[in-house]
Amino acid sequence: MKTTRREFVRAAGAGALGATLVPAFLRARAPGVSSGNNYDVAVVGGGVFGAWIAYRLAQAGRRVALLDSYGPGNARSSSGGQTRVIRMGYGDQEIYTRWSMRSLDLWKSLLAQASRPSLFQQAGVLWMARGEDPLTTKTLATLKKLGARHERVDRPELERRWPQIDFGPNNWAIYEPGSGFFAAFHAVQAVVQVAMSKGVEYLQEAVVPPSGKGKLTAVATRSGKAVQAGTFVFACGPWLPKVFPDLLGERIFPTRQEVFYFGPPPGDARFTSPAMPVWVDFAEEIYGIPDFKGRGFKVAPDRHGPAFDPDSGSRVITPETLATVRNFVSRRFPGLKDVPLVAGEVCQYENTSNGDFLIDRHPERDNVWLVGGGSGHGFKHGPAVGEYVTARLVEGGPVEPRFSLATKQKVQKRAVY
Ligand SMILES: Cc1cc2nc3c(=O)[nH]c(=O)nc-3n(C[C@H](O)[C@H](O)[C@H](O)COP(=O)(O)OP(=O)(O)OC[C@H]3O[C@@H](n4cnc5c(N)ncnc54)[C@H](O)[C@@H]3O)c2cc1C
Repeated sequence: MKTTRREFVRAAGAGALGATLVPAFLRARAPGVSSGNNYDVAVVGGGVFGAWIAYRLAQAGRRVALLDSYGPGNARSSSGGQTRVIRMGYGDQEIYTRWSMRSLDLWKSLLAQASRPSLFQQAGVLWMARGEDPLTTKTLATLKKLGARHERVDRPELERRWPQIDFGPNNWAIYEPGSGFFAAFHAVQAVVQVAMSKGVEYLQEAVVPPSGKGKLTAVATRSGKAVQAGTFVFACGPWLPKVFPDLLGERIFPTRQEVFYFGPPPGDARFTSPAMPVWVDFAEEIYGIPDFKGRGFKVAPDRHGPAFDPDSGSRVITPETLATVRNFVSRRFPGLKDVPLVAGEVCQYENTSNGDFLIDRHPERDNVWLVGGGSGHGFKHGPAVGEYVTARLVEGGPVEPRFSLATKQKVQKRAVY
């Protein structure tokens, strides 16, 4: 069914959320966009991956529609948290270090274009380690080899620079002074805003999972529209198993992840940047982000939680995890012992079997691409994913084997951190 531009604007503005709840910039018509419904590419999913893909495709001259059920950076999406870390260290997984380095430059440039440079905070990242920890040792070698900004800091210097941290058994760390964190959902919305200024049409629409095989010519939306395009990119994050149950139902594992925000004592700047960097205690599988804009000192276990439904799963934190996290905080950050919890979030990782992203064509539909599997570390890489997918769509070329569907197993064995 052919749908007019006017109907799309109505759908975008008055969809499931209602016109008044859709941010004004998403309702605004992008300048220079012609009416009609025949896109070069329809990107389904306006999380960090879909937003960057849409933006890069528009930069490459493609006519792009970006669709999202709940809105870019919505609270149910994996990109919807307050903050996300960008670090360069990835053990010996060079591809992710390279992509982080490239992505940081692209993020800074886009946020400058959006006049929102402070959505990236260069707080530094401190990765703590114990003894001959193999992953951190490999990280050190990779950062050196690739010329990423970093320094090795030993225990006496750690204690001198960050006296508010009790390092416990950690006796050294890698400090990345150029890294830091993003104000996550705001940053995704900034990408969409810039993408729209380049001609991307945003539609607040839920796409019905496509059935059948062969070339896909259109997708249907739950509101009864049809969106036609030459190519479709499904960047649906933790929803990918629902959209492609046969293909991905057992290959993407959404897990429940709890995040805690503690309120530092009044007037105490020790837990805010620049006094406090982003930190990772790798051995205890936990990390945190300094208090930003008074929203609280973030602490989050990185261990995979139970299976989770991104539409309907409960987003209330559990007393058990809070108790574990409090115990850690009082040991590692004694100045935060007994401070109040000021907020909590429940989000989900969309894990692949080993943590490598999924970026590949649908095996039975040549013009359909599957993009996701951020696996708890994808946010920072949005720009590199956008660049990579755009290059595949525009120039062709083989898919990097580690991103292929064929490498995605049905049993989880985490290898990328
Ligand atoms: C607690 C937590 C902490 C994290 N910390 C970090 C970190 O510090 N650094 C880092 O780099 N990464 C981090 N990550 C991982 C990172 O946030 C994710 O990998 C990344 O955001 C995934 O983005 P995405 O675009 O693939 O998915 P999403 O952000 O989930 O986007 C998918 C979008 O698709 C839409 N959608 C789904 N189905 C449909 C449909 N049928 N029709 C229309 N739209 C649809 C959804 O509404 C959603 O907006 C963290 C994740 C979590 C949960």
